[in-house]
Amino acid sequence: MVTVCDVGPRDGLQNEPETLPPATRAELVNRLAAAGLPRVEAVSFVRDERVPRMAGAEEVVGGIDRRDGTEYAGLVLNLKGYERLRGTSLDRVNCTLAATESFNQRNGNMSLDQALTQAQAILGVSELPTTLTVSVAFGCPFEGRVDPGRVAELCTQLNADELVLADTIGVATPRDVKSLVERTGAAGVHLHNTRSTGYANALAALEAGATVLDSSIGGLGGCPYAPRATGNIATEDLVYLLEGEGIDTRIDLDALIAISAWIEELLGRRLEGQVYRAGPFPSATTPAAASASTSAAE
Ligand code: ZN
Repeated sequence: MVTVCDVGPRDGLQNEPETLPPATRAELVNRLAAAGLPRVEAVSFVRDERVPRMAGAEEVVGGIDRRDGTEYAGLVLNLKGYERLRGTSLDRVNCTLAATESFNQRNGNMSLDQALTQAQAILGVSELPTTLTVSVAFGCPFEGRVDPGRVAELCTQLNADELVLADTIGVATPRDVKSLVERTGAAGVHLHNTRSTGYANALAALEAGATVLDSSIGGLGGCPYAPRATGNIATEDLVYLLEGEGIDTRIDLDALIAISAWIEELLGRRLEGQVYRAGPFPSATTPAAASASTSAAE
């Protein structure tokens, strides 16, 4: 069984230029749950003034119509964030740290040691299931390729219920993913399609034993350190792939496509996902297509 976690409302929208109001973000969460997503990362508990796009986390959670079969997760960066999450109805705590010193410094304004201590503190007190996401686990925009041994060593110092390896800048290829998932025993991966390896990497992770795959509807998201790059792998493209490979996701692909069309209209620009534009499956040969191919053959 594969658990697809849609991170669009959090990781996706946080890295898009537009700021959507809490009510719209709650509606996105509700639409994703209604499509059958087993998990949605709904919000981040950060200071509103620091990350305005994620402002009003409690309001977003207040707008969620809980659906059986969907687990609702929130990102917390420190104990204060954890306390805020505990004041809501969310089910899962996601916390994160970067695999490299420079990324922790530049992204979180703290050393790797401090980030590690903070993550350990959250994991230590959490009464809810926890996911620890190690960002830049394969490559770092400041330090280049990341030594897999270093990542594996870091992972042994963290006692989360679930470990997720993130290819934050989308540099990994399937061999890297397979080998690091095997080495760390990670439960899941968080992939970006920056260099078009995201979907191949998802399959490689499953082959290596991972069962949790992060993705975002429409491929929402990006990376502040690669402003022109593609974001997360798209949920609808991933579901199309998984279903085609015989994995029953119990997610409604048509419903996902409708959500992407809705977001595209909301944001007023083309999203990165492909399946929502191409459709779920090539339609049967239509008379128009048949005559076109006939004339081409002539
Ligand atoms: Zn991401």
